[in-house]
Amino acid sequence: MSNNSRVSRPARLAGRFLLAALALCGVLSAFAQSNVNQLLQRADQIKLDDNDAFQSLVKQLDARSSELTMLQRDWLDYFHAWQFGYLGEYPRALTAFHDLLAHAQDPTLRARARISLIFDQVNASHFEDAYTAISELLKSLPQITDHQTHLYALLTADYLYSDAGQFDLALGYLDQAAAFDQGEWSKCRVGGDRITILYKSGQLRADDARIQPAVDACQRIGDVNDKDSIVFYQARALLDENRAADALKVLQAHDAEVLASHSAALTSDFRATLAQAYLRTGDLDHAREYALSAIAQANKQPFAKSVADSYDVLYSIAKRQGDDAAALAWFEKYAAADKGYLNDLSARTLAYQMVHQRVLDSQRRLEAVTDRNKMLALQQQVEAQKSRSRLLYILLLLSGLVIVGGWAYRTKRSQIKFQRLARRDGLTGICNRQHFFDSAQDSLRYCARASREACVLVLDLDHFKSVNDMHGHAAGDDALKRAVAVCQVQLRSIDVFGRLGGEEFAILLPDCPLAVARQRAEAMRESIAASRREGDAAADLLVTASFGVAGTQACGYNLTSLLAAADDALYTAKRAGRNRVEVHHVAETAAAT
Ligand code: GH3
Ligand code: MG
Ligand code: MG
Repeated sequence: MSNNSRVSRPARLAGRFLLAALALCGVLSAFAQSNVNQLLQRADQIKLDDNDAFQSLVKQLDARSSELTMLQRDWLDYFHAWQFGYLGEYPRALTAFHDLLAHAQDPTLRARARISLIFDQVNASHFEDAYTAISELLKSLPQITDHQTHLYALLTADYLYSDAGQFDLALGYLDQAAAFDQGEWSKCRVGGDRITILYKSGQLRADDARIQPAVDACQRIGDVNDKDSIVFYQARALLDENRAADALKVLQAHDAEVLASHSAALTSDFRATLAQAYLRTGDLDHAREYALSAIAQANKQPFAKSVADSYDVLYSIAKRQGDDAAALAWFEKYAAADKGYLNDLSARTLAYQMVHQRVLDSQRRLEAVTDRNKMLALQQQVEAQKSRSRLLYILLLLSGLVIVGGWAYRTKRSQIKFQRLARRDGLTGICNRQHFFDSAQDSLRYCARASREACVLVLDLDHFKSVNDMHGHAAGDDALKRAVAVCQVQLRSIDVFGRLGGEEFAILLPDCPLAVARQRAEAMRESIAASRREGDAAADLLVTASFGVAGTQACGYNLTSLLAAADDALYTAKRAGRNRVEVHHVAETAAAT
């Protein structure tokens, strides 16, 4: 059984009815919403060109306030604030815009409110606030996604900077706006602002080719206010070129339209210029009428140029009519208004300069902080480099020390090696002749001081020439080394063993009586005679040695004397048949002496 079949038919019908009713409500409310949005859009479009219709639309929307969404109500608040500004009620406008900006969230609405606020701040002579606001607005420019609002922001910048006499800056924003949007509206507004800047910077000629296309563009889109503003500057250029009649014609053609637009500032400007044109053409009645009207229109802007110009016209009329008292009164008013206007102008320039300076200061502060950070980073790099260099120095020093140490060690080793080589016999490794003499003399001096007996043995290998001859020099060398080795085994550490030359050796035995020396010589002689080359059984390679012994008791502690005595004994041993030990006796010494 399906789920549907469980629900009763009337209940299903009631459910469907409820759904249909809800859907209808949704459609109706969506319709109402879209209707409100259309009304809001329309109000925004016509607020300048048909201010009466705009006001009645706003009233309609006010009446339906309870149906509006939060955003729609914010837009309605925006229109109220805007209308205050349009009517010249700037303090109310500023408060209303500030209230709106305090809570509105929508970025487009916020940007629009800020732009309108800027215009009202300027009109209320709150220039510093206006220049601060415009630099904030320009900063948020990349975030303003609504095309029209983006364009408005650029045009606001152009207007504000041109008012501060920053014409190049203003033209820059104007060029940006022209590149951003090439539609009719942009052609009208950008064209109009360009004419304004050209006039204010003294570059506009009345028949400038750029005037008509801008006027036409405004005409096509029905932007009366901007069109009349362009016409106004053209008329001013005509007056400047002393073409008062032409100026009059142009101004008269648009005067009614300007008055109907309810724009107080433009009406005042227009009428003051009309008054000047009438004065120049000699129509004093009209000149007075328009001058007074211009002053009345500028009620909310006491420092407008139009007011000063109008008083100037009234002063000139009174003077021409010979009414000196009135002339003086108008002139005083003219002077006050002109001063006010000039003060107002310099206040704008000053405000711009102050805000500009503040922006520059904060930029500089930012740069200083960036520079300081860069400096710190550099210092850190330098520190890191320094510690790296220090490490390198230490490593360099250590390697230097290692090299020098190694070099000193090797030098010392070679020195020791050379010293040993210089002292040792190359073949047998025992003391060479010179070192034997040095060591033996040291030892004898010690024995003499200590009154210890010492003996000298001199030994010479027997018939060694024939060993070489029969077995070769290498075998001779081996026999030499073997003879030394067997003798060394029997020597004490204090004994000094040296090779005097060829196959002749000497041994100093310190602290050794003559009898003992003789015994030890006998033992060595036997060892030499017993030694033979390993694995060599040839009897003809047997080497023997003859020994001569002399002692200090008979010969004293002089080495040369001892050696000579031992040598004598050796000679005796040789003569006696070799391979024997002979001791030098005192009698021999005495006989020798
Ligand atoms: P005597 O018994 O009289 O001492 O006879 P001898 O042949 O040993 O004496 P002689 O002085 O005539 O000869 C010494 C020989 O010793 C000469 C030389 O060939 C040899 N001789 C000297 N020095 C060395 C050496 O370093 N190596 C070798 N193989 N032979 C050496
Ligand atoms: Mg010999
Ligand atoms: Mg010899």
